[in-house]
Formats: sequence, C-alpha cells, structure tokens
Amino acid sequence: MSAANTARLPTQPELRVLKPSRTPVSKLLGKTEHLLVVVPEKPSASVWKQLPDGTRLRGLAGKRLAANVLVRSRLANASGAGITLGKLPGTGNGKKEVGAFDRLSFSGRLAADVCGDNPSSVAILVAGFSPATEGAILESLILALAAHRFRMPTYKSEPTKQKRLNTVRILKDETGIDVRRILAEANATNLVRWLTSQPPNCLDAKTYLALLRSLAKDKGWKLSFLTEAKLSKAGAGAFLAVSQGNAMRDAGIVHIRYRPKKSVVRPKIALVGKGIIFDTGGNNLKPFKGMLDMHQDMAGSAVAVATLAALTDLQAPFAIDCWLAITENRVSANAYKPRDIVTASNGVSIEVIHTDAEGRMALADTLALAAKEKPKAIVDFATLTGSCIAALTERYSGALTNRPDLNELLIDTGRRCGERVWPFPMDHDFDEELRSEVADVMQCAPVGGGDHIQAARFLDRFVPDSSAWVHIDLSSASRKGGLAQVPGEVTGFGARFAISLVLDNHERLVRTAKG
Ligand SMILES: [Zn+2]
Repeated sequence: MSAANTARLPTQPELRVLKPSRTPVSKLLGKTEHLLVVVPEKPSASVWKQLPDGTRLRGLAGKRLAANVLVRSRLANASGAGITLGKLPGTGNGKKEVGAFDRLSFSGRLAADVCGDNPSSVAILVAGFSPATEGAILESLILALAAHRFRMPTYKSEPTKQKRLNTVRILKDETGIDVRRILAEANATNLVRWLTSQPPNCLDAKTYLALLRSLAKDKGWKLSFLTEAKLSKAGAGAFLAVSQGNAMRDAGIVHIRYRPKKSVVRPKIALVGKGIIFDTGGNNLKPFKGMLDMHQDMAGSAVAVATLAALTDLQAPFAIDCWLAITENRVSANAYKPRDIVTASNGVSIEVIHTDAEGRMALADTLALAAKEKPKAIVDFATLTGSCIAALTERYSGALTNRPDLNELLIDTGRRCGERVWPFPMDHDFDEELRSEVADVMQCAPVGGGDHIQAARFLDRFVPDSSAWVHIDLSSASRKGGLAQVPGEVTGFGARFAISLVLDNHERLVRTAKG
C-alpha cells in the first residue's frame, strides 16, 4: 500500500447556510448563481406573485411541468442565474402532508439538477405552504444539497471536475429552521458515506484506528483501544475467533467516551458498530458477487461514530460511549472453522456454524463489554444479514429490540426523519433453532430462514436485561441508485435515524419497560 492512498478524513469545508436577511430579494438574487424554487403541485396565483420572475416562471411551468418534472431556466436579470423550479407532488388543495422520505427523494432530484449547473451559491425560495411544511422542505433541500455537493473519495490520477457549491442562501423562513442541527445531520451522513466507500487497502484496521484517533482529538473524546492481547485477557473469544484469521495483528475494539461534564462517569447511552473492514466470508468463502463490496461491511461502525460526532457537535447533554468492533474476516490457516467452540467475555460458549456469520461474533463481545459500563440503553448498527435485505429490500432497515414497547417509537422515528426502519419479532421460541448439543448457543441456524431474527436472538445473550437495547440491521446501507436525498450506492443510512432516536427520544428510550 502506498502512503498516498491511505484513507483520510474528508477535508471539504462544511456547506455555508445563510439565513434570511433584510436585504431585498432582488438584490440578493444578484449575488447568487442559482435559484432553487419549490411550490405546491397546484400553486395559487398569489404564489407566483411572490416569486422573482414569477409570471415568466408560471408560463414555463404551465408548459413544461405537467408531470411534476422540474423546470430549468435562467433568471431574466443581469446575473442570468440558473433556476430550478420544482412542484412538490401531492401537496396543495388540502392534500395531506408529504412524508419525509418522499420529500427527501424529491429534494434529491432538485439538488441533482442544481449541482448539474455547478454553481458556487444557490438561493432557496419555498412558497405556497404552511410555515411548518415550508420549514420541512427547507430542511430536506439543505440535506439534499449537502449530500450532492459532497466530494466522495477518488483515486483518479487526473483531477475530476470539482463541485463548486459552497453557499446556500435561504430567502424566506417563517419557522426558523435549526440550521446547526440540519448541518450536523448532513455531515454525519456524509462521514458515513465517506468512510464506508474507502477501498479496503486504504482503510485497514490500522488506518481506521489512526483516523478515529484524529477525530477523537478534534471532538475532545477519550479513546482507548482494546488490542487482541487485551481482548484475550478479557476472555473475548468470540471477537478473537474472527480476528485470528487476519494476517496483521491490528484488529481490536475501539472504546470512545463522550462526556458533557467531567464529573459524569457512567454512560447513559452506548452506540455500538460492526466494523468488518473486509469480509471474505472466511472458510465459508463468499462467491464473487457476494464478496465484491465487502469493504462496506464496516458501515455500522461508521454510523456509530458519525452519530457520536453529530451528538458532540450538538452538545448532547448526556454521556455517551461508542464501541467499534474492527477486524477483517479472512481466509487463512489460522481462520476459525465451523464446529469450533469459543467462549465470549460474558462466559457464554458458542458453537461456530458458518464463518460468514462473523458480524454477530465480533458484536457479541463488543456488546458484552459495552454492557459492563451499565448504560441505560444500547443501540447497535450492523450490516448483519442477507435475510434482512430479503425481507425489507434496501429501502428499509430492520429494527429488533429487547423492549417491544419501543417498536412504535422506532417506526415513528424512521418515518419522521426519512430513514425508515421496520421491527421484527424477538420471541424466545426463536432460540430453539440456535440450540446447541455441545455449547450454550449455536452462532446461527444451519438451515431455515429468518436469520436476521436469529442473529438478534443470538446477540440478546450478550446484553443484560437491565439495558434497553435496539439492534439495527442495516439492510439499507447500500442501494443501487442511492436512497432518498443521497445519490450513489453508499447511502449513509443510519446516522440521521440514530441522532433523532438518541437526541429527541432518549428519555423514552431509557425508560421503556422490559419485555
Ligand atoms: Zn460475513
């Protein structure tokens, strides 16, 4: 590996968002290179009157916008700025609210059009909606523009055309949207996309740790790294079963602490992430297509750490731990094998069945170690099972919890932020398929379906009942054609969901009754 190809943190400056000012709109428009306008599906005559160039836009929209497609034109002033006009489908004339996912998808299409013009600045005008809807649309547009302008990792020898967009000017905002929060969410999504897209020889375990250390320094976190030697002392046989097949001895579990005040010791929340930096499947080797994108198998760890970064930027008023299980899953003479028996750090013995079910092995010890700090709630993220994708496609991610009372909150949180999750059952009788003749539990069932449920039932053995626990099986971490406002295959899914869950609902999260 050449040093030049070592993964780094993104260096692109944050999108600058300017709030409405007293300067007349006509003057502001002279300073912008592009105008982005959103109106309802059937705007009233008064809406067009609020818009610069409204009469001409109305004429263009009437001709070209029959099927809610967007209009592209130029302002008839001296600047000749580009215009992107979109009609939000399903709005106006008393129609019910458009959901967050549809609003973000719509905003993504507009952002693609704006970025196609490659302006350095864009002014946004949303007209004809209630103040609350207007605020929600502004939020979606900023998230979409931040996602589309983001420069993903590239290793081309010739420099690629740079996206110039650096400034968004909001022309009107009656609700007073929380720009700091929106940008923290947008940055978190982009950090997940950035980390998850890194080539596997550029982001290896050593580089990932170095990168996390530099992020920790930047955010004021305390970071400790549990090496294989330390994990061996802690009896973490499940994690080590996976990492023992690696060529390098650089795997381990990262423990990051965020404390709003020095006096706080115990974490209220623990975020846990699966960080398999490359998954070959091990001795049960994956075929070509199944292995091709397995550098993305660390997406869960990226979601956990990006969520912590956003919560730190937003100065979350409670203590949070973050635990990342970082290792490869390789084929080698030392690699673990089916029917091996290993014991995890909480004393549970496991009969290995399939070496490609390594995520739950690495997570088992990571969850057990996280639980030792007695957090009130644990939320983990993992690209864990193919069966979750089979059940939900890549549009939703799976949610499984030891607190069934939380299921409605989980659905609702996903709907509101546009990163949708769907719950699965966690009944005890699913354990029958994991019953082992020789150990406490089988790693997975040798035959039969519902692996995403059994994986969660397996992981449940490493989380004590005293902590509320939510497990997110990230079936939407990657999707051809992107998802909602995010272009490109790696969606960054999970961070915005987690920020909403942890920041807006932490009291409910930690107070829910045991199942
Ligand atoms: Zn695997």
